[in-house]
Order: sequence, then C-alpha cells, then structure tokens
Amino acid sequence: MPDDTSPFDDESTGSRESKVEYRLVHRSARPNDSVVTFGDVPFGDGDVTAIAGPCAVESAEQIETSAAIVAQHGGHVLRGGAFKPRTSPHSFQGIGLEGVEMMRRAADAHDLAMVTEVMRPGHVEVMAPNVDAFQLGARNMQNFDLLREVGRTSTPALLKRGFGTTVREWLLAAEYILDAGNDRVVLCERGIRTFEDSTRFTLDLAGAARAKRKTHLPVVVDPSHATGDPELVPAMARAAVAADIDGVMLETHPDPTSARSDGDQALRPESFGRAMERLRDVANACDRRLER
Ligand code: PEP
Ligand code: MN
Repeated sequence: MPDDTSPFDDESTGSRESKVEYRLVHRSARPNDSVVTFGDVPFGDGDVTAIAGPCAVESAEQIETSAAIVAQHGGHVLRGGAFKPRTSPHSFQGIGLEGVEMMRRAADAHDLAMVTEVMRPGHVEVMAPNVDAFQLGARNMQNFDLLREVGRTSTPALLKRGFGTTVREWLLAAEYILDAGNDRVVLCERGIRTFEDSTRFTLDLAGAARAKRKTHLPVVVDPSHATGDPELVPAMARAAVAADIDGVMLETHPDPTSARSDGDQALRPESFGRAMERLRDVANACDRRLER
C-alpha cells in the first residue's frame, strides 16, 4: 500500500495531533498489512475472503442449508445474526443464544468459519467460546463499552461502519478495540446515509479504499446492506475486489421470500453461485484469488 499522503488525513482539526489519534490502527504503527484470521480463514493476505449467509439465524435447518450453499459456492465464513438490531421493536429480534449454537454446528459441518453479531457487553463472555468472530453492528459502532469488552478478549472482531459516521470515527472505534488489547479487527464498510435514496444506503467504496490506505487492518465491503438490492450486490462486490478491498460480505438465503429479516436484499442460492463465479473472475484478473 502506498504511504497515506491524503490532504484529508488531518480532517478533524487540521493539526498533526489528529494523525496520532488512531495511532494503533494507523499504518505507521506497523510496517506490513495485518492479517486477521476468523478460525483459520485469513483476511488481509492479498487474496479475497467471502463472508456469506442469511441476515438472521432462523432455525437449525435454515442455517444448515445456508451453510451448505455458502460452502458449495466457495464462501469462507458463514454469517448470520442470532441477535438482530432492528429499527422497529415490533420486528423479529433474532432467536438468541440458541441461534449461536445452531450456527456453530452448521459452520463446523461445512468447514466454514463463522461470524455473528454481539449486541451487549454482557454477552461477550458467554458467546466467545462459540464464535470465530464477533460482528459489531453499524448501530453499535460507537458503543464504547461494547468495543472495550470485545477488546478485552482475543476473539476477532468485524467492525461495521456506522451509517452516520466518518472514516475517522470508524478508525477511532477500531482504536478502542486495539487499545483494550485486541488487535484482531477487520473493518466493514456497509453503506452510509446520504441524501441519495435510490439505494438503501450509499456504498462508500472510496471511503473503504481510503480506510485501507490509512490503516494496516483488513477492510471488507458489504454491498448487501449498502445497496439493499440483490440486482446491485454482485456488481458492487466485484467493484470492491477490483479496488483492492480484502473481502466481501454477502447476504444469501435459501428462500429469500420467507426470510424473517432483509429478505429483499438477499441473493437467491443460484444468484449467489453466479455472483461468486464472477467475483472469482475479477479476483483472478486482479491477480488475486478467491479460492482458499
Ligand atoms: C447485518 O449484518 O445483518 C446488520 C444488521 O448489519 P448492519 O449493522 O451493517 O446494519
Ligand atoms: Mn441484514
């Protein structure tokens, strides 16, 4: 990666001080890109890592079928939320701790690593033995108690960017986790809120590429939540790979019409398969590999 010479680097105060604000995650802290592993799956080694699965764990059968689909098409990490941060209190909130265990079994059965969201500090300790990585959701990106609690473990974290936050604030959130002692952090751009409403959020691909230049930590892109549209997801995933992003997160569901959350944006299994094939082609064209 080139040295970060962006004039925007000192965006907060325009002073030199702001550059050391995120001194642990800043590229100057480490000579090389950090490689972070979820289970035995690496992020940041130059190749492309694919996280995929449903928005939510709904049942043992649904997550098992999802894991089979993800593995069949060359995904590496199974995703799925057992605790769902929903905009409405009337929406499905997730099936809870039982869902984490179901997911663990499904991932193991298909030789996948897994990542699932933790929403409260009090769940970190109880979930840690069953997860390969904690997802910290967009809505919790600045839940500093939660960041610190995950920072006190050695379990990797997937830190999603808050949809109302700058790249600087995102990196400072990661800084909290490293400052608490855990340097196993992967950043995930998942779209920000802008005036544009033709997509669910606005995919800030340039912001993700900027983050990658500022930090030694791996950066992935989630085009599912960013666009909210399964027709746009595959192309935005390919764009991320062409932009040297370390991996992608894709929502796929065995039957999106019956999904209990985010069904509208989930790729059907056949579309997921095609998306992975074309992603592989773009990776190869960029002299990177999707195979692991
Ligand atoms: C999710 O990954 O299902 C999710 C809730 O993501 P975000 O926190 O980015 O909205
Ligand atoms: Mn979702």
